[in-house]
Amino acid sequence: GQCITHCPTGALRERNDTVKVMDAIMDPDQIVIAQIAPAVRAAWGEGFGLSTEQATVGKMVSAARQIGFDYIFDTDFSADLTIMEEGHELLERLSHEKDAKMPMFTSCCPGWVRFMRSQFPDYVDNLSTAKSPQQMFGAIAKTYYADILGVTPDKITCVSIMPCTAKKYECAVPQVNDSGADRDVDVSLTTREFIRMLRAAQVNIDTLEEDAFDEPLGIGTGAGVIFGATGGVMEAALRSAYYFVTGKNPGADDFSIVRGEDGIREVTVDIAGTPVHAAVVSGLGNARNLMERVSRGEVSYDFVEVMACPGGCAGGGGQPIHDGLELACQRGQKLYALDKGSQLRFSHENPAIVQAYDKFLDRPLSHKSHELLHTRQAEWDL
Ligand code: SF4
Repeated sequence: GQCITHCPTGALRERNDTVKVMDAIMDPDQIVIAQIAPAVRAAWGEGFGLSTEQATVGKMVSAARQIGFDYIFDTDFSADLTIMEEGHELLERLSHEKDAKMPMFTSCCPGWVRFMRSQFPDYVDNLSTAKSPQQMFGAIAKTYYADILGVTPDKITCVSIMPCTAKKYECAVPQVNDSGADRDVDVSLTTREFIRMLRAAQVNIDTLEEDAFDEPLGIGTGAGVIFGATGGVMEAALRSAYYFVTGKNPGADDFSIVRGEDGIREVTVDIAGTPVHAAVVSGLGNARNLMERVSRGEVSYDFVEVMACPGGCAGGGGQPIHDGLELACQRGQKLYALDKGSQLRFSHENPAIVQAYDKFLDRPLSHKSHELLHTRQAEWDL
């Protein structure tokens, strides 16, 4: 009504899914679990005027707990899972280079996948079939984790807290829902909606203690954390691909050459004697520019990371907005610092991931992995 027309910021027109989450929390029959994306930890404190030092991951978990979720998990866990699947897929494509669709493009950004499907449909099969961390998490939560809890998938409401508005679209795509429940991810909230929920729950930010994610789906590595920054998916994948080929870890920072602020970065990295030509792109204008050059045959790559938002998810459309301030780079630095300080910096060393393969998935690209963790974007209805 009137309010909406006169709202100068457009905030009132924004979709609000927080009511759905509160309804699930109030429902005694539902187990409500939250997964929190890497980039959210770099921005949630801005909603309360906290400095980077004050807005710790532990306080974020503690705040989320006060909303009433039964379990608080980390999308870093499924980012590590994405690396296991996508890293093996890259090596498989590289080894059949003649008949494999190359370059392989990352597929974890739904803004980019949608752009690709509408603007460059001939390249859709070049997208990695690995689902995004959000969707891998939902699929695992409602199968493997439902088994651990001893409940059927419909008893779990899976909520994702994302830096992103396009994730709401992604979780509604019928073809990414494979757990047998209606949806693998039931509700996707933005960082802004999360902040709104913390306010509505009157969480006292000044007295928050440090808390830890729940296990096992709350265990993540530094490689998972950097998914939230441009170049992070590429770097995490290269760290593990090197290990998959050689059986030895590279230095955790050996591939830091892919980091940076430019919207298009091109690098050639060496994986045990095989040169991999890679590009890292953020912003859809840059993506269009790169795709035009790829389709004219002017450039050729093996592996390309594309994120629709400038600076990657750190600068995502669901993050807090500050007039005239662009914080993607600063938030990205926070993610790189968290990676640097992590005990675990390689996705393949995440003990919860190792266990999930042992007990449930078998191995990367197994039959079960294909069933639950991969999708063909060409078949999407939305
Ligand atoms: Fe969403 Fe932007 Fe991240 Fe893409 S880059 S997943 S659109 S926040």
